[in-house]
Amino acid sequence: MITQQRLEELVNECAFATKQGKVASYIPKLAEADPQQLGVYWMDLEGNGMGAGEWEKRVTVQSIVKVAIFLQALADCPLDELTRRISLNATAETFNSIVDLEVKNHHRPLNPYINSGAIASLYMVSGGPEGRLQRVMDLLGKLTANDALSIDEQVYVSEKQTGHRNRAIAYFMKSTQIIDGDVEQLLDEYFRLCSVKVNCRDLAIMAATLANGGKNPVTGVCCARKSHCKTAMAVMVSCGMYGQSGEFLVRTGMPAKSGVGGGIMAAIPGKGGLGVVGPALNETGNSAGGIELLSRLSDEMDLSIL
Ligand code: GLN
Repeated sequence: MITQQRLEELVNECAFATKQGKVASYIPKLAEADPQQLGVYWMDLEGNGMGAGEWEKRVTVQSIVKVAIFLQALADCPLDELTRRISLNATAETFNSIVDLEVKNHHRPLNPYINSGAIASLYMVSGGPEGRLQRVMDLLGKLTANDALSIDEQVYVSEKQTGHRNRAIAYFMKSTQIIDGDVEQLLDEYFRLCSVKVNCRDLAIMAATLANGGKNPVTGVCCARKSHCKTAMAVMVSCGMYGQSGEFLVRTGMPAKSGVGGGIMAAIPGKGGLGVVGPALNETGNSAGGIELLSRLSDEMDLSIL
C-alpha cells in the first residue's frame, strides 16, 4: 500500500508542521518533550508493519488510553447502564472541560473521551480499587501486543501533583452521584493509566486491533468484542480529537484518538491502523505534525472510511 521509502519521505515532508505547535506544559514534566520528534507506524490486518521517522521513541499515552478504559467498561457493564452515567455526544469544549457535564441526567459527562467521561468510565470497570487498574493495563497490553508496558513515574507524579482540575471534575461527579467511593484512589489510577509509555508501533497495533474487530493482527488474540470496537470507533469519529474532531474527519475520514503526549492512533476498519507521535501540539491539544502526517497518509493510501 505504501513503500518504506515513501513513508520516510512523508515524515520529512511533515517536519514543518511540528514547528506550528508547542509541547504541553500544564503537566510540568511534559514540557521536557522534544517538539521536533516525529514518527509513524503502519500496521495492516495481516500483521505486516512498517515504521518511519522516530517511531521507536516512547511518549506517555495520555488520552489515548481512554479508548482502552471505555472498551473495558463496555466489557464489564451493559451499554445502557453506562450511558445512564456517560453520554456519547461530541463537545466543542476542551478535553479537561468542567462545564461539559450535562445539566440534565445528573450532570453526565458528554462522552467517554473527555477527562470527566474517562474518569467515570474507569469507575464503571469491574474489580473496584483493587482490580480496575490492572484490568485496563491487561487490556492495553493485549491491544498493543506489548506485555512489557510501563509507567513513566515522573510524568505520573507530575500530573498527580498538579492535576487539580481533574480532581475538581471528579469530586463534582461524586457530588452528583455519577461516581462514588474513594475519589483520590480513582484519580490515582487515571493518572497512572495516562502515564503508560507507548511508541508509534504500540499505537498502530492497538488501532489495527480495533480496525480488525477486536482480534489483534500481530498475536491473533481476541481482545475485545467486535460490537464494542465499533462503539469505541464511533465515539472516536465524533469525539476522538476533541473540538477538532469534525475538521479532522473532513481531512482524513479516519476514526482517531489523540493524547497530549503527542500520540494519535487512527483505526481504518478492514484495512489497518496508524500510530503517529509528535509532541508539538496545536491549540486543540492534538499533535500538529501527527495531523499533517495522517492527512497525507489518508490521501496517499486512500484510507478514508467515507
Ligand atoms: N492526563 C491528561 C489529563 O487528564 C490527558 C489529557 C489528554 O491527553 N488530552 O489532562
